[in-house]
Amino acid sequence: MTFDEQRAKMVETQLKSRGLDDERLLAAFGKVPRHLFIPEEFREEAYADHPLPIGAGQTISQPYIVALMVDCLGLRGHERVLEIGSGSGYQTAILSELALEIFSVERVPELLKAVQVRLSTLGYLNVHLAAGNGSLGWPEHAPFDAIIVSAAAPRIPLPLVTQLAERGRMAIPIGTPQAQMLVRAEKRRGILHQKDIASCVFVPLIGDYGWPV
Ligand code: SAH
Repeated sequence: MTFDEQRAKMVETQLKSRGLDDERLLAAFGKVPRHLFIPEEFREEAYADHPLPIGAGQTISQPYIVALMVDCLGLRGHERVLEIGSGSGYQTAILSELALEIFSVERVPELLKAVQVRLSTLGYLNVHLAAGNGSLGWPEHAPFDAIIVSAAAPRIPLPLVTQLAERGRMAIPIGTPQAQMLVRAEKRRGILHQKDIASCVFVPLIGDYGWPV
């Protein structure tokens, strides 16, 4: 099977069949070439239903978990989105397809450099990247209509609550370093309303508001 065929099958068997039905979301997952975000030695498994290593001891989640998280944001196309943990840049590319402007913060400079090359080569131009501790957010560009955290935190970092717009949505794995709950939160009249979505396992968020290195 070609990568294109594998990707179409992934959308059918891993996303649609598990209840994801947002047409724009499914189209984005059908379009973004996930294999180009995966290190060569694991490329054959790019569309498999499990997480994969992306270098620097980090992992990319299985497609379904990325889709479930992005689905929590309810993106319609006009949003400014903050992403914490660019990783391979795959989720960044998905967000770039679904929203107006993406601000993504990654703490590992070598990963960030690779993301920069990958996204500009593929023509994802509505993305702004920064190196640093993303749990502090990116105050210069706040408020954000949506915030997505792809590393596990002990609790929702306060700066991210502050930087979320009124009626903004957040997706974040909350728990221990070993196991978390994917939480969807929405800010209404300044108060965060939270809902548990699914249990999950992410790499830890490092630094203030996360865990020590
Ligand atoms: N969604 C990504 C995978 C993210 S893996 C993808 O599609 O590939 C989680 C990432 O969070 C890792 O790259 C890790 O370096 C980063 N990270 C961990 N703590 C961070 C922090 N405090 N600020 C920014 N990035 C962080």
